[in-house]
Amino acid sequence: MIYLNGDFMPIEEARIPVLDRGFIFGDGVYEVIPVYSRRPFRLAEHLRRLQHSLDGIRITNPHCDAEWGNLLERLIAGNEGDDQYLYLHITRGVAKRDHAFPKGVAPTVFIMSNPLLTPPKELLASGVAAITASDNRWLRCDIKAISLLPNVLLRQMAVDVGAVETVLLRDGFMTEGAASNIFVVKDGVLLAPPKNHLMLPGITYDVVLELAAAHDIPYEVREISEYEVRTAQELLLTSSTKEIMPITRLDGKPVGDGSPGRMFAQLYQLYQNYKVTVMRGNTPNT
Ligand code: PMP
Repeated sequence: MIYLNGDFMPIEEARIPVLDRGFIFGDGVYEVIPVYSRRPFRLAEHLRRLQHSLDGIRITNPHCDAEWGNLLERLIAGNEGDDQYLYLHITRGVAKRDHAFPKGVAPTVFIMSNPLLTPPKELLASGVAAITASDNRWLRCDIKAISLLPNVLLRQMAVDVGAVETVLLRDGFMTEGAASNIFVVKDGVLLAPPKNHLMLPGITYDVVLELAAAHDIPYEVREISEYEVRTAQELLLTSSTKEIMPITRLDGKPVGDGSPGRMFAQLYQLYQNYKVTVMRGNTPNT
């Protein structure tokens, strides 16, 4: 069951006009929200980031948080599986093709839910391969825009060589992955790039830094050079659907000793514990 512009229906029945500006221009934004035990994880934060994305492209938010909450609740209930991920997609709507914003046009709102398949244990035990590439995206990577062509091409470069992610470098510094945030471990310290217009402010990124702070794991938020990426003890990838994963090969070379490190093991365990605690309702599910 999906939601499209006020109606719930099977995905096979969903139709949008070809003049939708999402189709014509990629003129829209999206969110991905993980659902554990049928409860959306960090809902308020995801809705706040959605608001930031909408503000960034000047679309008025079609719903208040309570309305979003109701729609998402109905979709979760209407789909199978306790663990799901919600995909929210808002475009500037349907209008005659013209770059300038149309007047008086309602945004298109589409939401779907899919089963959430977190990475299998074997992959977490071996770690994954990544490559590096030059970050050739625009300068508003803080907006979760549906126009993902650069990310698609960058990610495919990894897939083409049997790797799972592309770590992006801009002007000698690391920004993020093509579809994830990246952390570096150096001398036992967790390093995270500062949130700015060059990367998506990851919700999982925030959780990891909160966990580090709460558990006395040394961390620094600062610019990370290409050299530090290439000589890292550990590299970690985070996203809402992949949670935390170790990158154990970069551009064909082992990262550290080539196996998942202690920082990964600790943060992975803390993340899993945190999820369980939040889902039991023992801490506010903000
Ligand atoms: N950066 C990019 C470019 C992404 O597409 C994503 C999500 N897929 C992330 C970072 C991670 O963000 P989050 O933890 O909120 O999923």
